[in-house]
Amino acid sequence: AKDGGRGRYHFYSEDLHADAEARSQMEEDLRDALAKGQLEMFYQPVVSTSTENITGFEALMRWHHPVKGWISPHRFIESAEDTGMIQQLGEWALRQACEQLAEWPGEIRMAVNVSPLQFANPQLPSIVANAIASAGIKPSQLELEITETVFLQDSAATDAMFAALKNLGVRLALDDFGTGYSSLGYLKKAPFDKIKIDKSFVRGITEAGSRNAAIIASITSLAHSLGMETTAEGVETMDELDLVRVHGCSHVQGFIYERPLDAQQASERLASGLAA
Ligand code: C2E
Ligand code: CA
Ligand code: CA
Ligand code: CA
Repeated sequence: AKDGGRGRYHFYSEDLHADAEARSQMEEDLRDALAKGQLEMFYQPVVSTSTENITGFEALMRWHHPVKGWISPHRFIESAEDTGMIQQLGEWALRQACEQLAEWPGEIRMAVNVSPLQFANPQLPSIVANAIASAGIKPSQLELEITETVFLQDSAATDAMFAALKNLGVRLALDDFGTGYSSLGYLKKAPFDKIKIDKSFVRGITEAGSRNAAIIASITSLAHSLGMETTAEGVETMDELDLVRVHGCSHVQGFIYERPLDAQQASERLASGLAA
């Protein structure tokens, strides 16, 4: 047992060392990516179910690595959070998205993902205010997407952050609703303008006996009675689109309309009008 214990200790200690090295390498890579312009924002249309017009876009980060090619945010956002680089990446994304929005006509909206670590940063309201002011957009055109994990943090600080952001006049959306620690209490507590229903509820909605349709119908009726909009995420098929529409979602986002597009393609999509 002693040997085993020592062996294990050894193993873990080398492992931790390797982890630490990988982390600092990743931090350096992400710093480089930002400095060398390897990051790019893509934009996925959000479409109104009633008019089928594009009402806005969600900004999604991509990393164009010189050797590895395009890297999905699934593979680097968590490392950015682990290394603290998310603060810089997040601020860059926000500025980029606001500047892009300023180039587009009309009063469309831009949704930007905000990591719980950014949300815990007391500087966030001033970072957001600066991004809005320097791009020259209306605060109400910006929608910050926040996940339920922010409610795991200190509640006084969380409440104060919600108040400060609301005070700027930006919109707030609860992202990935239904995946985590979902509690209806959050809806009462926090001033959300929109709930984004996670794609795990949309998937399978068309199957006989699926409970997802009933769940979506309840979420939308609750949200709408609280004055919030709802976006169904990850809608891929015509049947899914029909069902989320029937069950009352006010907005849809998904491959059925469009994948995330680069800035050029998104501008063309917007100019060409109807989403269908
Ligand atoms: P998310 O915020 O839930 O973003 C929606 C994801 O669903 C995007 O993945 C989008 O490409 C994908 N998607 C959209 N429509 C469909 C569909 O019809 N079917 C399927 N299967 N997927 C669809 P993406 O771009 O790979 O981003 C993954 C996650 O990375 C995001 O999930 C978000 O949590 C995070 N992320 C992306 N950009 C940023 C960013 O700028 N800042 C932060 N903090 N997180 C980001
Ligand atoms: Ca995460
Ligand atoms: Ca999102
Ligand atoms: Ca989501």
